[in-house]
Amino acid sequence: MTTESALDTALSQLKQAVSQLGLSENDWQTLSTPRRVLEVAVPLRRDNGNVEMYRGYRVQYSTTRGPSKGGVRFHPDIDMNETVALAMLMTWKCALTNLPYGGAKGGIAVDAGSLSLAENERLTRRYTSEILPIIGPERDIPAPDVGTDERNMAWMMDTYSVNAGFSVPGVVTGKPIVLGGSLGRTSATGDGVAISAREALRVRGINPQGATVAIQGFGKVGYWAAVACEQMGMKVVAVSDVHGGITGFSSIAAVWDHFKANGNINVPGSEKLTNDELLHLKVDVLVPAALADSITEKSAGGIQAKIVVEGANAPTTPGGDAILKENNILVVPDILANAGGVIVSYFEWVQDKQNYFWTADEVKQNLNEILMKSVREVEAMSEAKNVTWREAAMMLGVGRVAEAHKLRGLYP
Ligand code: GLU
Repeated sequence: MTTESALDTALSQLKQAVSQLGLSENDWQTLSTPRRVLEVAVPLRRDNGNVEMYRGYRVQYSTTRGPSKGGVRFHPDIDMNETVALAMLMTWKCALTNLPYGGAKGGIAVDAGSLSLAENERLTRRYTSEILPIIGPERDIPAPDVGTDERNMAWMMDTYSVNAGFSVPGVVTGKPIVLGGSLGRTSATGDGVAISAREALRVRGINPQGATVAIQGFGKVGYWAAVACEQMGMKVVAVSDVHGGITGFSSIAAVWDHFKANGNINVPGSEKLTNDELLHLKVDVLVPAALADSITEKSAGGIQAKIVVEGANAPTTPGGDAILKENNILVVPDILANAGGVIVSYFEWVQDKQNYFWTADEVKQNLNEILMKSVREVEAMSEAKNVTWREAAMMLGVGRVAEAHKLRGLYP
């Protein structure tokens, strides 16, 4: 994966939307420029006493529609370009789903797996302290992303709160329940992926009961997407992790039990697949739920799925996307398909603000309602303008940000 390509992909999608919406060159300038970018040094004292320096980032791509919002990624490949690209995607995602947020993303160029728990905590706390002046429940609200989870959010919340002098649960979302987290947040992105898959199957006239699904990735998105797809009656026939894929297992629960006990997904009796073999399986739905740039000019041609549901952010390059379009594969784009996470993050923030917490059913019902509204809007726009779902989703998201810009006007 090259990091420029995530930004190239995001900019080329934006350019297309700007032109399809008939927006001006001035609008393009405004929409293609991140509002605030911060790069910080994050020193870490390793357990052996050595001090290492890491690069940390926080990009507030837009604050036009509200405080900026988006995850924090720990990954060795993350850099400023990729952070900008991912913060841009968050902007369109929040606008598309009508959440009162701008878009942000942050991260540290580090392999989270190489850190002990204590090192991870020190790194997270120092990063939080470096970006502290620009985050806050009214400014910018981080959340988990690749390589971070609810433990990191607890440390971020604590570091911010200790500095404020009182508890500020609303500064991050994706927290443990006892610290003001929301029921249903852990599974939310996967739940949204499954809802998107179900709706795409409906559009293509395929019964979700027994529809086959292959999922690339078995992390926070892929695992929960698999569980939710199974609950809806779909048949998950393949999953993968960074080491490769498997097929021929009895159920996701069986894979999960094996994974918990052995740290790998190679359930006895299952058959191994390479990454490409998984992508090219003859299934109804393919869910790329790993990292960016997995469906490319090279890999897209062999995809036999009728539907692609983008669980990951930016898993498809423009070249890959053009091939999927040519082959009449319905793509539910990332900013719609994986929006379940930030939608329930929004619920968490609202609950924290009100100190009033919802039941799991209320969370699920409201998630379904918000996501279904966006699905219907994308479907209608795609039909009315004869564009792909990605183009329709971008037109809706970008159009709302552009409209908000116009109404706010330019200061001074
Ligand atoms: N990291 C997730 C995303 O890319 C969630 C962001 C959030 O909850 O703020 O959508």
